[in-house]
Amino acid sequence: MIACPGCGANLRFDIAEQQMKCDYCGNLYDPYEFDSIQDDASSEKLFDAWVYSCPSCGAELLTTDSTDATAFCQYCGGTSILFDRLRRVKYPTWIIPFQLDKEDCKRAYRKAARRAIFTPSRYKKEEYIESFRGIYMPYWNYTVDQKGTARVEAESSTSREGDYLVTEQYIIAGDLDISYDGFTHDASRAFDDEISECLAPFDSEKRQPFTPGILSGFYVDVADEPSRKYLEDAKAYYENLTAQKLLKNSEVVQAAKEQRIHTTGVKGVSIPAKITGIQQVLYPVWFLCYREGDRMTYASVNGQTGKVVADFPISKKRFLLAALIASALVFLAMNFFLTLKPEWSLLVTNLLMVFGVWMSRKQMTVLSERYSGRGSGKSSSRRASLLRVKRSAAVMAVMLLLLSGVILMVDPVYNAVFYGICMLEALFLFLLIARAFRAQMELATRRPPQFNKKGGRDDA
Ligand SMILES: [Zn+2]
Ligand SMILES: [Zn+2]
Repeated sequence: MIACPGCGANLRFDIAEQQMKCDYCGNLYDPYEFDSIQDDASSEKLFDAWVYSCPSCGAELLTTDSTDATAFCQYCGGTSILFDRLRRVKYPTWIIPFQLDKEDCKRAYRKAARRAIFTPSRYKKEEYIESFRGIYMPYWNYTVDQKGTARVEAESSTSREGDYLVTEQYIIAGDLDISYDGFTHDASRAFDDEISECLAPFDSEKRQPFTPGILSGFYVDVADEPSRKYLEDAKAYYENLTAQKLLKNSEVVQAAKEQRIHTTGVKGVSIPAKITGIQQVLYPVWFLCYREGDRMTYASVNGQTGKVVADFPISKKRFLLAALIASALVFLAMNFFLTLKPEWSLLVTNLLMVFGVWMSRKQMTVLSERYSGRGSGKSSSRRASLLRVKRSAAVMAVMLLLLSGVILMVDPVYNAVFYGICMLEALFLFLLIARAFRAQMELATRRPPQFNKKGGRDDA
């Protein structure tokens, strides 16, 4: 808690002003004015924070504001929160202050929720949306130097010499001198890696040196993943960046051309790399949780860009209602068969199918956006498969439409031809609905977390 130098009231960080603001007297202050004094014993800077801990899942949240009272756990929804310990915390190196305030966050969420039409209305209620919390999530940032000799493997095209096929191997070598900064990985065990991948990117250019004042009014999650854990990921990420550049480098391309050889791709590039530093950076995230039975749903909004990553479960009631309406329409269409011309029923089924494909494509877009962050293999392959389904559904629909167009033009004598394609389209529609429902249920809820702290250790 930081007191206003003018009147002694509690200061909080104001997002619109990007300064400390006193709600009582209205004064603004530079947050860096309240930076803590250097600890003499070491050169390390520390600040005081209170710890909220959840006895049921083990998650912890920090706050610098002792007057704040939180009623439930951010990660498991548990309500028996303990709030009694003070902890001295090491300064992170950087922070990106919240750029979007709670109103911006709620607007972004509402917009995303409106598109999730099968989602129960409680996920769209104001009381629910109101419980978004501003949390600074810790990330590890890795800096790397690539200095020394880089090697690019190359080979000649294969030629035949007697009974042998001959390929000559070459190495194109050159001096490299590059430094990188900005690869980050989420450092909190409580904060799901999948969500943090999807919330990315944050613009690290906008980061600024940390000072505790910026935290007032918000929470901080604990960095409890060891920083060394993602060293190899960071190295591989930066190596891949340089390898891609090297393969396109004009001198490498020129050398290969002169020797009539070709490079063997990213795998054939070796780059000297040394991690030169690991820093902690805090990123702003608006976070919301909801517990229903033993399943959790989370919603989060990137506090810098406004990107929304949310679980939207489907309401069984809404889904059944939609399915009922759809089948009632199909049934009516079938009745048209008997009394009206078969062409009409084909037109009606076509309309229904187009509507179904349109809905399903919308759903797939919402889901695949959840996976669109810079991601691990798992989330990008999930995204690829969603996009595949989306594409093949469209292809299938177009084919069925063409087929029914041909039939309408030819106008065969036998009504069974019309019925046949109607049934085919109805079946396709049913498959689409079933698929969308399964995908949605799979993605929209999670198991509550468990981060059991080992044996009473409280200084993780
Ligand atoms: Zn004041
Ligand atoms: Zn909990």
